[in-house]
Amino acid sequence: MCSLHFLNFLLINFCTGAYFMLLRLLTRYFLAFAVLLFALKPSSAQVANNKIIKVFIDAGHGGRDPGNEARQRGMKDEKHLNLEISLKLGKYISERIKNTKVIYSRTTDKKISLDDLVNIANNSGADYFISIHCNSNPNRAIYGTRTHIHSHKFKASRNLAFIIEKEFSTRAGRKSRGVMDARDRGYNLQALQYTKMPGVLVECGFMTNPTEEKFLNSTLGQDYIASAIFRAFRTFLHESNVHVEDRDNIYKVQILASTAPVNLKERRFQKLDSRVEEYKFPGQTYGYRYMVGREYDLETAKKLMRKLRNEGFKDAFVVSLKDGEYKTSRVSR
Ligand SMILES: [Zn+2]
Repeated sequence: MCSLHFLNFLLINFCTGAYFMLLRLLTRYFLAFAVLLFALKPSSAQVANNKIIKVFIDAGHGGRDPGNEARQRGMKDEKHLNLEISLKLGKYISERIKNTKVIYSRTTDKKISLDDLVNIANNSGADYFISIHCNSNPNRAIYGTRTHIHSHKFKASRNLAFIIEKEFSTRAGRKSRGVMDARDRGYNLQALQYTKMPGVLVECGFMTNPTEEKFLNSTLGQDYIASAIFRAFRTFLHESNVHVEDRDNIYKVQILASTAPVNLKERRFQKLDSRVEEYKFPGQTYGYRYMVGREYDLETAKKLMRKLRNEGFKDAFVVSLKDGEYKTSRVSR
């Protein structure tokens, strides 16, 4: 949408739609709004080598999984907000940054399992992964944005995340709650751990905070969020000194090797909170090996190994593995 259409679009909403809230928001954000329109002008900067840059945008949840539920009357569940913001973000990126292709996890209200999401993203050949979510907290006073990454040692993800949070706080009038990795959180996010490209998961605000829930549900609020992420992504492409990450050299924990396939529905596997993957090594005696985790440093892999030993897999050990080649070597005792 060009700036003029965008303005018309907002004027139409302004005249016929949700008068009060938009009027208030427009007044309150008038100056910032002018800045927003200016910043949305198409980028003239060329992206290096004219290579097509593929961006995978994941609208979190969907279908039977609503995510966080709407709190106030007339407000939408998280899955709808995520989709609306994702579609706006994708439109801005594909229309305003040359040589980009946007791939969506979903464009309708349907559920995609985390395993499927990871596989779809990895098989899409995407260069970047952006997942859109909205947050909740038992404390209704808490509000603001947060961007998650897998690890601070992944510099491309980290740079993108910090630029997004900066855009939120300086240009979109949001309170930034900063950038967190798995260690900060104390847990992994599968979508960020198992995807093979630089990635961020953006929490666009708290639906449990009444003011922020209204903002997230408003057309203008969604435009602010989507355009802030769009500008951040554009800045990242043009200014970050690192755009790729080594996610091929990984560590996994082998919990079992077998001469024949093992049923992964067995209780001993089901009770683990990590998913178990089967790797086949044709021609070898123990041709079926069962692995857990996807770690990018030995220390974290050993921690997972100790946890799995405590959970009943006494012989678990760490292997280093070049992803895609299926070559393993034992690196722990
Ligand atoms: Zn969510």
